[in-house]
Amino acid sequence: MYENEIYKTTRYKLKIQKWYCPNCSELIEAYEDENKVTEAVCPKCGAVIKKIRHSRRHQVIDIVMA
Ligand SMILES: [Zn+2]
Repeated sequence: MYENEIYKTTRYKLKIQKWYCPNCSELIEAYEDENKVTEAVCPKCGAVIKKIRHSRRHQVIDIVMA
């Protein structure tokens, strides 16, 4: 997964996104893709989180509990 992230950042110059897990408050870091969608798995509680950034002030987060 780490090599894949390096590949994505160098190829598409993606932004890193950081936010706290709504379930357990663990800090999550993931890269946003070209469609402004960020998908990450919380390393602490295993929740799958999908974040869509519509604008700087409007973000939508989907959480799927493991
Ligand atoms: Zn969590």
